[in-house]
Amino acid sequence: MPTLLEKTRTLFTNVVNTILPIACVSCGTIGDYVCEYCLENLHAKSRIQTLLVNMIELPVLSLQTIHTKLIREIIHLYKYDCVIQASGTIKRIVQKLYTELPNEEKKAFTENVIFVPIPLHTSRLKWRGYNQSRTIAQALLEESDGKINTNNTHDVSQYHAKLKVDESKLANNNRLIRLLNRSLKTKTQVGKTQHDRHENLKNAFTLNFDAFKGLKGAKTIVLVDDVVTTGSTLIEAATILKHRLPYSRIIAITLAQAPLNYTAKNGILL
Ligand SMILES: [Zn+2]
Repeated sequence: MPTLLEKTRTLFTNVVNTILPIACVSCGTIGDYVCEYCLENLHAKSRIQTLLVNMIELPVLSLQTIHTKLIREIIHLYKYDCVIQASGTIKRIVQKLYTELPNEEKKAFTENVIFVPIPLHTSRLKWRGYNQSRTIAQALLEESDGKINTNNTHDVSQYHAKLKVDESKLANNNRLIRLLNRSLKTKTQVGKTQHDRHENLKNAFTLNFDAFKGLKGAKTIVLVDDVVTTGSTLIEAATILKHRLPYSRIIAITLAQAPLNYTAKNGILL
């Protein structure tokens, strides 16, 4: 569960956000959380790293490896300050960076692929009201499809409208699937070493059997998360999937990559 400090900060931020006009997190221009100028000047600086833990090899593509103020602040706003209105901005950023990837890198996300967002524990999902990784997955799905799905799709705006959403009741799109559950309320990763992070996440995920039973021949499973730091979360999730789907290729994509020693404002490690 979120701590009292987290709840208080979120409440405070929400009050401030309803009083102050919306401003660009990077330059302060009034109008949107990221202004047109800053979005135009944000470019993909992608990197593929291959994580190798416990015989699991996981290629991870990060759309943005340079941890700029804009990326830091927009993720913080959406993820920790719970400003759900920033979902459209997050999606525009993801889609712009994705379209700038070299064709070779984009190809991995278009052919017989399903997107699997890293899930939140139910208690955190209820508190935040949405899963930021799902928003990113939704943006990727739309962009990689080359069109906006209107049928049987988790529309993010509808999703956000239901603040106390039960994610398990959202129908699975055939390419965006809640294949994992977060079964453990893991402690914060803040300040933990790489080894401690792996330990902290052991057995954190379980397979969503209902979704698993409905899977039809996906060759590639794309795990989606907002930020990769040590990769512990992605590796733990990939381990569960690899056991059940040994013949599927598993890759991961994140919006950003953050250094282990990076501490965002308010002492929260992204
Ligand atoms: Zn700006």
